[in-house]
Amino acid sequence: MSHLLEVKNLGKTYRPRKAWPWSKKSVAIEPLSFHIEAGETLAVMGETGSGKSTLAKIIAGVDSPSSGELWLNGQKLHNQHYQQRCHNIRMIFQDSENSLNTHLTLRKQLEEPLKFNTDLTAQERNEKIDIALRRVGMLTEHGEFYPHMLSSGQKQRVCIARAIILEPQIVVADEALVGLDPSVRAQIINLMLNLQQDMGISYILVTHSPQIVKHIADKILILYRGKMIVFDKTDIVLGDDQQPYVHQLLHDHLNKQIKFKSDKAKKIAD
Ligand code: ADP
Repeated sequence: MSHLLEVKNLGKTYRPRKAWPWSKKSVAIEPLSFHIEAGETLAVMGETGSGKSTLAKIIAGVDSPSSGELWLNGQKLHNQHYQQRCHNIRMIFQDSENSLNTHLTLRKQLEEPLKFNTDLTAQERNEKIDIALRRVGMLTEHGEFYPHMLSSGQKQRVCIARAIILEPQIVVADEALVGLDPSVRAQIINLMLNLQQDMGISYILVTHSPQIVKHIADKILILYRGKMIVFDKTDIVLGDDQQPYVHQLLHDHLNKQIKFKSDKAKKIAD
């Protein structure tokens, strides 16, 4: 059986920019390999500058690797599979405040990813938008709202709706919960878990939060200065006291609790 996503010897080096004579070659990711299965959540951790966002962007097709391969459902992804990747791997960016277009209604913004499916009629597009809004706990009437009429949590819900509207297999979220109040953050985590249960989504979550990792990740990947130093199941990594750096990264602040609403989250937290 093939893996949902297999990353093989993937590396990224940023070349110096011609326009910037002072810029240097920068190795953002040294060749690394890992895989995830359908419905799993992978947490990507590491200090600032360790290569997390670069890895997330390459998986989502927003950036390209310098070396290596990505395989989805046993099929190697080439550039010509752009459309397939856009359907199957969607990304939620760091800053929901700025990743929405202030001049467009939410309905217009949610319509954007649907352009990949040219067979849809206007009515079918609207139905999909209504379903996506309801799935993230918003009203269909919110479709006529502009982003400035929403709270931060609602904006994040719209970003999630935009990511799931094509019913992808993988959602990559780069620090998607940063800047939200703890209670809103817990609501968004619950929403993501519910969507995972209903739609079978796999998440790749770039996060600094050991609590999030402990409660919702099946596997953990840790980067250190562009090198993958850990990739394993969460309980194995959490139980490993042999690596002081990993221990520090994962066990700091673990005593702080998040309030979860969904049964799955509660069970894990208990
Ligand atoms: P993280 O998400 O862990 O903070 P990044 O993936 O953003 O790390 O960055 C990893 C390394 O790649 C850093 O050294 C950063 O300076 C470098 N880098 C990221 N983007 C670019 C770019 N567009 N051009 C040159 N270097 C970059």
